[in-house]
Amino acid sequence: MKIISINAGSSSLKFSLFNMDNESVIASGLFERIGIEGSNYTIKYSGEKVSEEIELNNHTDAVKVLLDKLISLEIISSLEEINGVGHRLVHGKDKYTNSVIITDEVIKDLDEFKEFAPLHNPANILGIQAFRDVLPEVPMVGVFDTAFHQTMEKETYLYSVPYKWYSEYGVRKYGFHGTSHRYITQTVKEIFGREDFKLISCHIGNGGSITAVKDMKCIDTTMGFTPLAGIMMGTRSGEIDASLIPYVMEKEGKNASEIIEDLNKNSGLVGLSEYSSDMRDILEKCDACDEKAIVAKNKYVRRIVDYIAQYYVLLGGADVIVFTAGVGENSVPIRREICEKLHCLGIKIDLDQNSKRGEIVKISSDDSKIDVYVIPTDEELMIARDTIDLINR
Ligand code: AMP
Repeated sequence: MKIISINAGSSSLKFSLFNMDNESVIASGLFERIGIEGSNYTIKYSGEKVSEEIELNNHTDAVKVLLDKLISLEIISSLEEINGVGHRLVHGKDKYTNSVIITDEVIKDLDEFKEFAPLHNPANILGIQAFRDVLPEVPMVGVFDTAFHQTMEKETYLYSVPYKWYSEYGVRKYGFHGTSHRYITQTVKEIFGREDFKLISCHIGNGGSITAVKDMKCIDTTMGFTPLAGIMMGTRSGEIDASLIPYVMEKEGKNASEIIEDLNKNSGLVGLSEYSSDMRDILEKCDACDEKAIVAKNKYVRRIVDYIAQYYVLLGGADVIVFTAGVGENSVPIRREICEKLHCLGIKIDLDQNSKRGEIVKISSDDSKIDVYVIPTDEELMIARDTIDLINR
């Protein structure tokens, strides 16, 4: 069976076409600058890469070109081969606790919840509508970023603010990166051969979140009402004292939205280092003894260690810690520093194993009290798995 996983942005559409008989990627690619001058696409398949600048006025144009190309490049022989389309959806509020078959009601809800994800939900709808226009008979599944976190208890997801903010305005912790944390949880289940484990899943990329998982369920996660909360990220501040907002508004003559923009785009690694949001650049500067980069990196590590320690206590111990996403999968020194700072929990890192790249690697030594793994995340595959699962039901 063949499934397309879609991640639609406001002017982009990312896809992966899977052969689900063996979960292999047949083709993948990106359509960019949709509705903007200079629109283009790149498709990768069987070691080949095709790129073209082409007029794409809207997402429907992009999907038409995508399907035409899949056939003209002989990646598939007819559209009938596509059994389902899975969409990455960002915000399902507390209504969506699992992936769902996409119906008119789901689209209406995505629209209703758009004030919670103003950049993402409208873009997700564009992606869905485009496939409805072009492949109306093919079933579609929606996989929400927020769904995995809906098992948190009320005392966890509520903020200690006036209750009315929750009951009337929906102010609470929702959590994000749920599809990635669920993929990691399922992979740990395959490694351990059981479901009764305590996991701390660290998705640390440009954005980042840490999730505490017990018996396959999310108990707590670091992102909150929006992805701004929790650990320090490439450009996001993570947790801060809200009172600094009106103070800096006055100092800089900015409004609240502009300060939130600063907290989302000009903070974190790039904010503190005044140099780059990319950990590779920061580490290079650290090697050159740049003080701001050293402080930025140390703070970044410290926030991750803080949350791992907090979740260790919350879970009553941990069986396994997993690192994933750009920094988690690739940065040998950051993983080493985090693990060394957690030595008091009985964590011992195997430096040879930690220097390995690529597939799933256990980086803790045999005498470590907690297993530590690097597991490359695969949200697209998770979406394709959910899609096949739901359309087969
Ligand atoms: P992601 O958002 O998961 O795609 O992660 C992107 C981030 O991963 C980049 O901004 C880099 O900071 C980081 N990254 C990727 N490769 C490396 C590496 N080899 N060492 C350190 N950081 C890396």
